[in-house]
Amino acid sequence: MLITDRRQRALALLAEHDLGALVFCARENLRYLCGFTGSDGVLLLTAAHSLFLTDSRYTTQAQAQVSADRVEEYRLQADAVVAALQQAGVRRIGFESSLAYGKVNDLRTRGEATWEWLPLREELEALRLLKSAPEIAAIEAAAQLNAVAFAEVEALLRPGTVERDVALALEFALKRRGAEEKAFDFIVASGERGALPHGVASGRRLAAGELVTIDFGCRVDGYHADETVTVAIGTVADELRRVFDIVLTAHDLALAAVAPGVPVIELDRVAREHIAIAGYGDYFGHGLGHGVGLDVHEAPVVSTRSKAVVQEGMVFTVEPGIYLPGVGGVRIEDMVLATAAGSRVLTRIPKQFRNLLA
Ligand code: ZN
Ligand code: ZN
Repeated sequence: MLITDRRQRALALLAEHDLGALVFCARENLRYLCGFTGSDGVLLLTAAHSLFLTDSRYTTQAQAQVSADRVEEYRLQADAVVAALQQAGVRRIGFESSLAYGKVNDLRTRGEATWEWLPLREELEALRLLKSAPEIAAIEAAAQLNAVAFAEVEALLRPGTVERDVALALEFALKRRGAEEKAFDFIVASGERGALPHGVASGRRLAAGELVTIDFGCRVDGYHADETVTVAIGTVADELRRVFDIVLTAHDLALAAVAPGVPVIELDRVAREHIAIAGYGDYFGHGLGHGVGLDVHEAPVVSTRSKAVVQEGMVFTVEPGIYLPGVGGVRIEDMVLATAAGSRVLTRIPKQFRNLLA
């Protein structure tokens, strides 16, 4: 079974790092390793068994959802975790490096002074790195909702519409069609605001002769879709039209380079080089992309610092952009799955240049 296999891979870390137990608190890891979809709980894994701890708000849900040897209810989380670790007789404990400092400190001070606490990052990220068929299906379902919702709101992309109304309409369309949640606060950046890579939808009105960049996505069965569309509202200045093609080609080149065995850094390089040769190297400041799964940003990082190599089952974004302060910007983003044969793009919305007033 899927969860048993995932837990076996987590348990391999015990021996690798000489640990007595692993403590998981992150929602995404709880969902991945024991099926719990609530927001608060702790999964404790030792070589001998698995224990899920939660509070009274979630006991009923946990009993129905969680795959673990035992489910227990606590009143004080840190006390319950410490008691379970004492019972397990551990000495070294691994935990998520993302765990809040206050929580870590609480566990340390309540636990035995002799215990060693080991923060784990890449080791835990690696657990969720390669997606299985049901995970890919959930991501594709989310991507399909993206496409349907975008088509539904496209009529709003006209001069006079407020950016925030576009974001709200998209969110409504996604949720009404079954999305669990929006993936993040949507970016709707029109005109000059297109130069802001993270221009969250504002009160600005779309105007004719501008580009608008819309970065949005949703969550289905815990898994995310993330994509960015840039479209023209009427005829745009020659430079913006040219910049669009440069970004699209950079995006296409990087996608075409995706295949098992290719260093991830090479994908970033291919796109970045194309943009630099075109003369816009200074205007593409962020990495090319990021992994997507239970978290909308997860491993692998796709940037100039990437150390990973593309493997079959990885899902990540390719999202080059050019941002011209005071002028505008373009970003084009798709999600791609690395397959044995090469790759498959999971997002559905076509990315070629479109003038919506033409
Ligand atoms: Zn995005
Ligand atoms: Zn993204």
